[in-house]
Amino acid sequence: MAGFLKDREKQIFTKGGNSQSLVGGKPSLAGSVSQRACVFCGSRVVLYPIADALHLVHGPIGCASYTWDIRGAMSSGPELHRSSFSTDLREKHVIFGGEKQLYQALHELIDKYHPKAAFVYSTCIVGVIGDDVQSVCKRVAKEKDIPVIAVMAEGFQGSKKDGYKIACDAMASLIGTDNSKEISTMSINILGDFNLAGELWMLTEYYKRMGIQILASITGDGRVKDIQNAHRASLNVVQCSGSMMHLAKTMQEQYGIPFMKVSYFGIEDMSDALYEVAKFFKSEETMDRARDLVKDELTTLLPTLEPYKVALQGKKAAIYVGGAFKAISLVKALRLIGVKTVIAGTQTGNTEDYKLLEAICDDGCILVDDSNPVELSEFVKQTGADLFIGGVKERPIAYKLGIGFCDHNHERKLALAGYEGMLNFAKEVYETVSSPVWQFVKRSF
Ligand code: SF4
Repeated sequence: MAGFLKDREKQIFTKGGNSQSLVGGKPSLAGSVSQRACVFCGSRVVLYPIADALHLVHGPIGCASYTWDIRGAMSSGPELHRSSFSTDLREKHVIFGGEKQLYQALHELIDKYHPKAAFVYSTCIVGVIGDDVQSVCKRVAKEKDIPVIAVMAEGFQGSKKDGYKIACDAMASLIGTDNSKEISTMSINILGDFNLAGELWMLTEYYKRMGIQILASITGDGRVKDIQNAHRASLNVVQCSGSMMHLAKTMQEQYGIPFMKVSYFGIEDMSDALYEVAKFFKSEETMDRARDLVKDELTTLLPTLEPYKVALQGKKAAIYVGGAFKAISLVKALRLIGVKTVIAGTQTGNTEDYKLLEAICDDGCILVDDSNPVELSEFVKQTGADLFIGGVKERPIAYKLGIGFCDHNHERKLALAGYEGMLNFAKEVYETVSSPVWQFVKRSF
């Protein structure tokens, strides 16, 4: 394709067009302005919603402000996670080292806020100057008698995806360190829901209606004690597989807890998530409760979706999101409201994920891995998309091209998961696509 970097050929695929399949999971290509964030950012977005922990960024202030309140992750209790603490490293620390600064900051913050645990994030400059973050954390943990976990996530090591793995390892070090929570015979951990706009609370309610206990939500509305007890659940239900598969696999190896991948976006996948969990527990009563729940929800939801479906019929959407499971759910959810997906891309999908994505897309759909603004703009022009679904970095692409935008990333303030979320999603898509503002914008294609 003209204007595109030749070395990215294998990461771009048109369904029904080129014969090769899409290769995912590759490091970003130098010269391609990847939409992926850094390793530190990846670790921070995963751990951030643990609300009763201290999150201290050991680095220059920019790393902390870049990730300050990075998710719309809500808490039903403490909100310590929403403060962005930093050791604020300066030139003198780069020359003489920042360990003393880190030690003092940890003492001061733990004394002031009494967190249940502390996560210390190592950033690029800390990796360069070689501060021994782990030994400072070990020392403070002993002195303060709380877990103090070094998250060795220097930004330059790779991409956001590597940060996910580091965050999972940090949590794995907490899991199995407490056994005091009461658990039922049917208990699960929810992995990879971050309680954006309170979505986790809706899901928790569904599972409660089925008689299932959520032992730990990792990490939305997360609590240190729940995570410490997470090894006692019967099942891990993994949503954002890109960020949490490593933890699910670790827990399977260490504690024998099986896991299943689900998605809570769109009617089909939301209902499957409930049915699959009911099936796991082999309880007819739980399955009946799941069926009743789905029936109740759909009886209300389907008629309310109908007007949106009529209004949106024939519209075309571009999707560029973090993980492939979300992209797959979005293709299905859009189809339900009459919208065709013409571009489907992700930052962190692997080759297997893209095979699944390809299978549910229509012919002509462009699939892309680890894309950049030039490519995405070009694809929108080629396909004539009316709507872009993405995150903060894709919003300007859509607006500059004069098309609607729906925020489906971790900054969003609107619940889009579950049945209620499906209705919000349809409304959001309708409102942005049919906004009168577009009549004043001259489309550049
Ligand atoms: S790339 Fe390095 S300096 Fe930039 S935000 Fe990430 S950790 Fe901080």
